Amino acid sequence: MTLSLSGLSKSFGTTRVLRDVTLEVPEGTRIALVGSSGSGKSTLLRLIAGFERPDAGTIALGDRELAGPRSTVPAHRRGIGYVAQDGALFPHLSVARNIAFGMPRGARHVARVHELMELASLDQTLADRMPHELSGGQQQRVALARALTQQPKVILLDEPFSALDTGLRAQTRQAVVDMLERSGVTAMLVTHDRDEALSFGQQVGVLAGGRLVQAGAPTGVFDAPIDVRVAEFLGDVMLVSARSAGTDAVDCAFGRLPVRHDRSGGAARVRAMVRPEQVRLAPAVDGGNATVVSIRSTGAGADLTLRFGGGSFPAEATHRVPLHAAARFQAGCQVQITVDGGVVLYPRHE
Ligand code: ADP
Ligand code: MG
Repeated sequence: MTLSLSGLSKSFGTTRVLRDVTLEVPEGTRIALVGSSGSGKSTLLRLIAGFERPDAGTIALGDRELAGPRSTVPAHRRGIGYVAQDGALFPHLSVARNIAFGMPRGARHVARVHELMELASLDQTLADRMPHELSGGQQQRVALARALTQQPKVILLDEPFSALDTGLRAQTRQAVVDMLERSGVTAMLVTHDRDEALSFGQQVGVLAGGRLVQAGAPTGVFDAPIDVRVAEFLGDVMLVSARSAGTDAVDCAFGRLPVRHDRSGGAARVRAMVRPEQVRLAPAVDGGNATVVSIRSTGAGADLTLRFGGGSFPAEATHRVPLHAAARFQAGCQVQITVDGGVVLYPRHE
């Protein structure tokens, strides 16, 4: 069943936290919503879970309205599981008893707990451990296993990896994605981490100022952000002034480049956006299209400050090169910048 949000709004006092959020999450798919702290991520999950009521709009699962002007289904009847940021395991219960908590009396607990532990890639030898005897990543997987005991139709995950350190984070993230994939449950995750959001599922959405600014397939949103704010939110950007050079091409500091997506809305003055991953840099034999102004080591590489010619605005930009490429550049040398793929155009206001 598709999870449908339509025109959802929520205020606390005079603070408008969510405005007109509309979104569909097809059955069995995963979506990640990314937004900075205070952008309303937890509030949105709490509305869906049924811990808060929307001021306007509806929440439905298939044909069943869970919240709307006429109806409110209580949280425990929604078939929605919620995993909090810290996992919130019961500290005085073992792993097995944490997972079994909430199973109906008389159910075949042992077999079901066994099955859920397997789904969560948790070794059976951990069944009798207490939460404090587990790593952070294991605790999160137990929390998710516990949320799955009720066989929810939808699982909501509120920044589930933010308390884990980098190495464990990537590993736990993958384990959780595999687990959700195997269980076939519809899932919504909220996070402030763009890489986490982009790699989580079939859709990514960006929350800013209480609005869902853009949602779609991760590659699509990363490749064609609706505005500069979304572009900067999902990755690093290089933005330079550009002039039209006929249909679907512009002249800019990087040369004449094809326009991959035009988001300028026909503005007279435009900027061209490229991702640093598209940029290749080589010392220029003759000419070149930029000068290296300065080099600053980052340990793993170097940040080159480049100055563009031709009245580009801004006139300078920083570009990071890896350690073994850095030795090819010196301050003052001319470089040739090549861009793979085209640019995305945005209006230029300044
Ligand atoms: P996020 O999870 O993205 O960090 P939240 O949804 O927790 O954001 O909060 C969004 C805004 O709503 C914040 O300004 C927060 O202070 C406010 N807020 C959240 N819950 C409440 C509440 N129960 N009462 C009053 N203000 C709240
Ligand atoms: Mg939050």
